[in-house]
Amino acid sequence: MPRRTKIVATLGPVTSTPEQLESILRAGVDVARINFSHGTAEEHIANVARFRAAADRVGKIAGVMADLPGPKLRVKMATARELAPGETVTFSLSHEPRHPDDLILTEPEILADVRPGQRMLLDDGRLQLEATSVGGGELKAMVVVGGTLKPNKGLNLPDTPLTIATITPRDRVALDVAARAGVDWVAVSFVRGPEAAADVRAACAAVGLKVPVLAKIERPEAVSRAKAIVAAFDAIMVARGDLGVEIPLERVPTVQKMLIAEARAAGKPVITATDMLDSMRENPRPTRAEASDVANAIFDGTDAVMLSGETAVGEYPVEAVKCMHRIAVETESHVHSSGAVAGTGYFHPEAGIDDPLTLGVCDLARDIGAAAIVTPTLSGRMARLIVRHRPKAQVVAVAPTDAIVRGLAMVWGIAGVRMSPTAPGTDRLAAAVQDAYRAGAVTAGELLVLVGGHPIEGGPHCPTVRIVRVGSGGESGEP
Ligand code: ATP
Ligand code: MG
Ligand code: MG
Repeated sequence: MPRRTKIVATLGPVTSTPEQLESILRAGVDVARINFSHGTAEEHIANVARFRAAADRVGKIAGVMADLPGPKLRVKMATARELAPGETVTFSLSHEPRHPDDLILTEPEILADVRPGQRMLLDDGRLQLEATSVGGGELKAMVVVGGTLKPNKGLNLPDTPLTIATITPRDRVALDVAARAGVDWVAVSFVRGPEAAADVRAACAAVGLKVPVLAKIERPEAVSRAKAIVAAFDAIMVARGDLGVEIPLERVPTVQKMLIAEARAAGKPVITATDMLDSMRENPRPTRAEASDVANAIFDGTDAVMLSGETAVGEYPVEAVKCMHRIAVETESHVHSSGAVAGTGYFHPEAGIDDPLTLGVCDLARDIGAAAIVTPTLSGRMARLIVRHRPKAQVVAVAPTDAIVRGLAMVWGIAGVRMSPTAPGTDRLAAAVQDAYRAGAVTAGELLVLVGGHPIEGGPHCPTVRIVRVGSGGESGEP
């Protein structure tokens, strides 16, 4: 039984050679994440090309996600600096320091929104300041919890409603690079509301990029508007790194469950991210707590689990992917035997026929012992609705473009297959079985449930369900 939960891995210095990329793909990576907060444009473009080439060699359909920095404030400084409790530090509101000791941020204009008394958290909250005054082109803050501030560390402003645009000038530069590199997904940091989706799509269109967009949920406003954000975007990420700084840490586990439930109900993929196997940056084995964290995200119903520093800069990138794979496979065997996964009851007849249809298809596949559910799909929607019910049968989505197929690489339980061109009037369902057979997604003798939702050529929307047994040449035989 192949693994159903997808693995997203952040590429970085330790995952950039053809050999390293091939190794992490063989170990189980489904989607590569390029974090545009780090590295250079040339590195990103070259890395995407090497990743695609490695996936071709491995014979795997893998996706690439560009992760935009968003209004993620980072401190620009040449060397580390000590901040002592009680000390007053000055931030410049422009890119030019007024005094040599001034701290400069990547988006200094944001500081105009900060009011005295609000918290300013540096380096994932390790250092804590409190704003004391703002004006005259600078902001002064007092150090509450001190320590060493290293270059390029982030600044979070959990108490400050941000007025900065969703897409910063830095994001536009990153998007241009992403378009040249050719990515399958664009992820947006610090999304605050559903309106951001239109802004991101417009910014993508401006550079000729037409791909699905993902909202990283890491701001308090986004948590309270989760449902609307899920509806507006194509996917979400539970970005626990910044989220755990922006909202009280103890709320993260329940917010994770709520976000995953919202995304699943809508049939949109959700990635659970940050620190999943963090200790594997330095150790070949994770802690027991980390192993449980990966498993519990799967029990919560996540589509994908993500590695960050573990694969970008860690000492054991391949081991981290292998370890995540093993935890996922073991956990999934319990998902199916016990029905242990959260929120599997998507059956709302009042919402139309999709819920009863997809649930019925999963029940049918289980009752007849089908090996796979095969569905030809234009956008991947029908396949995404089916896997909400976490069927035991593999779901094979046969889609007309490489972009759609690669976009499905982050969705739980879907094996994407490219649809071959057919003459008008061809039996779509039988052609999908042929494509799945040629791609190795189904084998001769297997029992399949086929589902056609919207006809590819247009025309009446009459969903069709069919049961077939795969013939020795991939033809649809009688069951
Ligand atoms: P985000 O909030 O978007 O997750 P991050 O700073 O936490 O940003 P991650 O992608 O989670 O970054 O990666 C963890 C660490 O790995 C980073 O802090 C950085 O040190 C390193 N890293 C990630 N990508 C790269 C890269 N392309 N080049 C160099 N270092 C990288
Ligand atoms: Mg991170
Ligand atoms: Mg973040």
